[in-house]
Amino acid sequence: MTLEVFFAGDADRWAAYRDPLKRALREAGVAAKLRDSAPEPARVDAVVCGPGAAEFDFAPFVNARAVLCLWAGVEKLLANPTLTQPLARMVDPAMTEGMVEYVVGHVLWHHLGIGVDLARQDGHWQPRSVKIARDRQVTVLGLGALGQAAAGALAALNFRVHGWSRTPRSVSGVICHSGDGGLRDALAAAEILVTLLPHTPDTEGLLDARRLSWLPPGAMLINPGRGALIDEDALLAALHSGQVAAATLDVFRTEPLPAGHPFWAHPRVTVTPHIAAETRPVTAARVIAENLRRLATDEPLLHLVDRARGY
Ligand code: NAP
Repeated sequence: MTLEVFFAGDADRWAAYRDPLKRALREAGVAAKLRDSAPEPARVDAVVCGPGAAEFDFAPFVNARAVLCLWAGVEKLLANPTLTQPLARMVDPAMTEGMVEYVVGHVLWHHLGIGVDLARQDGHWQPRSVKIARDRQVTVLGLGALGQAAAGALAALNFRVHGWSRTPRSVSGVICHSGDGGLRDALAAAEILVTLLPHTPDTEGLLDARRLSWLPPGAMLINPGRGALIDEDALLAALHSGQVAAATLDVFRTEPLPAGHPFWAHPRVTVTPHIAAETRPVTAARVIAENLRRLATDEPLLHLVDRARGY
């Protein structure tokens, strides 16, 4: 059986993914016609798409048995009412590597006080004591593909790592908390907090004024998850009071972050433009090809999104 696969993406993305996808399909032994146009949508077996497909009309693809997303976060796709087919999200090993490097780099920046030193290049010799990792507690909210990898890498550097998930998890070297009852303990431990949660109705505005007050005073925050996890006004107030000493923010409620937003000029906020971890075509193509192989052989798909949970 030859699968009809439609790539729903712009010309640049098609140019980046076409050859890696064709190679990965060949290597996986999947017979597929991969196209960036769909003259007969009813003949398409699977749609491959990026986040730009939030507005795409999936309704004509009446026989598609899967929509395979190239992105990890799928909240915008889930809001598309025409997308009724089973949806699989991306868990790309190279994207995970990128996220681990981003998290470790920014945790070390805050842990070592590099920003503090940069702000004090004023000709005054001001020695200060610097903690080592085993004396520093870091909490990772979200223990999925990315959170577990980041928490594991931090534990390997000797940080005392706590993690928090919806359901109970066991991660080597990580003190795991779960559910609403576990959040307060997870936040109370967080000298440095890393948020790697998806945006769902349950996580919307999770870090509000009340929950930010559960952090140890002077905590540092790194958010490469989603902007909507945080009440931005509450974070600005916490930065003003010193409850939060500094923040690295990669994702925002409005992206691009508008010119003139207070985060841009804040002396203790580092803004990165949603670059923490991107999908890499060569490795992601192998994930897509494996799911198409499963589709062809009627095996369960990997990384299916649970619509009721929202991730
Ligand atoms: P994942 O594998 O689906 O893991 C999500 C984790 O969050 C799981 O541990 C889950 O708990 C936990 N969770 C979800 N809802 C929760 C709730 N209400 N309470 C407590 N825990 C909850 O996702 P992932 O691949 O690690 O990716 C996480 C997020 O990172 C993505 O959704 C995306 O928003 C973001 N991301 C950002 C970038 C970037 O460049 N900035 C790149 C990629 C991804 P369970 O373990 O119990 O299910």
